Amino acid sequence: MLKKVCILGATGSIGESCLSVIDSLRDRFTVCALSACKKAEKLLAAARACGAGHICLAQADALEGIDPGRLDGLELHLGREALSELAALAEVDIVVNALVGGVGLAPSLRALEEGKRLALANKESLVMAGPRLLGLAASSRTAQIIPVDSEHSALFQLVKDQPEKTLEKVIITASGGPFRGYGRKRLETVSFSDSLNHPTWSMGPKITVDSATLANKGLEVIEAHFLFGLGYENIEVLVHPQSIVHGMAVFNDGTVLGHMGVPDMRIPIQYALTYPERLVGSVPAPDFAAIGSLTFEPVDRESFPCLGLAYEAGMQAGVATAVYNAANEVAVERFSREEIRFTRIADIIEKTLAAAEKIDDPSLEQILQADKWARDFAGRLGA
Ligand code: MG
Repeated sequence: MLKKVCILGATGSIGESCLSVIDSLRDRFTVCALSACKKAEKLLAAARACGAGHICLAQADALEGIDPGRLDGLELHLGREALSELAALAEVDIVVNALVGGVGLAPSLRALEEGKRLALANKESLVMAGPRLLGLAASSRTAQIIPVDSEHSALFQLVKDQPEKTLEKVIITASGGPFRGYGRKRLETVSFSDSLNHPTWSMGPKITVDSATLANKGLEVIEAHFLFGLGYENIEVLVHPQSIVHGMAVFNDGTVLGHMGVPDMRIPIQYALTYPERLVGSVPAPDFAAIGSLTFEPVDRESFPCLGLAYEAGMQAGVATAVYNAANEVAVERFSREEIRFTRIADIIEKTLAAAEKIDDPSLEQILQADKWARDFAGRLGA
């Protein structure tokens, strides 16, 4: 039986890779629903190419100027709320959540409530409401969260068949981004376009800036905490400029298992779709002789404070990780408008975290309120 897939964020980099993976596995998967934020033309073309019957535009006004005849035979969903409708469609087996930002949380929750497999690329879902997502997955017979983020897919594969309580620590690798080796002084003058030159991964602008500040790694540390049930002291980040080793798991007997592959998101996307099976893929293994050496170095935490702030938010727990995420989203948006300097992103996160109300064991309502408060606060902080 063909597994039916819904791709949220289909016109972005992960969405495109996902469409290409499914196209190569047509005998196993079919796409039945696609969403985009505002790229209506691209969404329509993708829906026609893969035969999806449902499309969703999160920004309803993006439909202006589209000839209604082009929508023939497609069921159209409009607005942010409709993303959750798509995730909950009865026919859908797997929801690939490749949305950018906090907007991804509601459809993640909805997918799990409906007992779907959630192939999760939207880190913000776990960062904002990790315990809630895990609770939903645990209480359903069919709902499951399979990570798509390359580091977490790596770790998931490394730890899933190991005896309980033997995992001591995980190591997440970071390419170091475009500004690896820059000191604080030099970082003050880097521009938005400089930050888009990622050395190894080709990704959308938000995550590329997050990779440059290492906030992306910060979000990933929080994700790893929830996915693998480890304390923050047992999650380490190492800079690994070649981006070949994606994650390492350290066990109680001194064994370290590592996961390697070329930096291509089609690998973790395919695994999240096919798990527990492993099917023939279209990405070749690394050519180690050509790569020559794999190197590792510690993170320069002083020049890249967003990572340390993520650990602080994570250890504070409650709504702090949602506040971290919201402040970062707003700061990155302001940086992309050239309203603030690169180094101001970390300041804004720090100030917003310091001013936020501490709430233990928050309800979803309180998380969403904290998110809204943090966005507003971070947006009003001076440049
Ligand atoms: Mg990653």
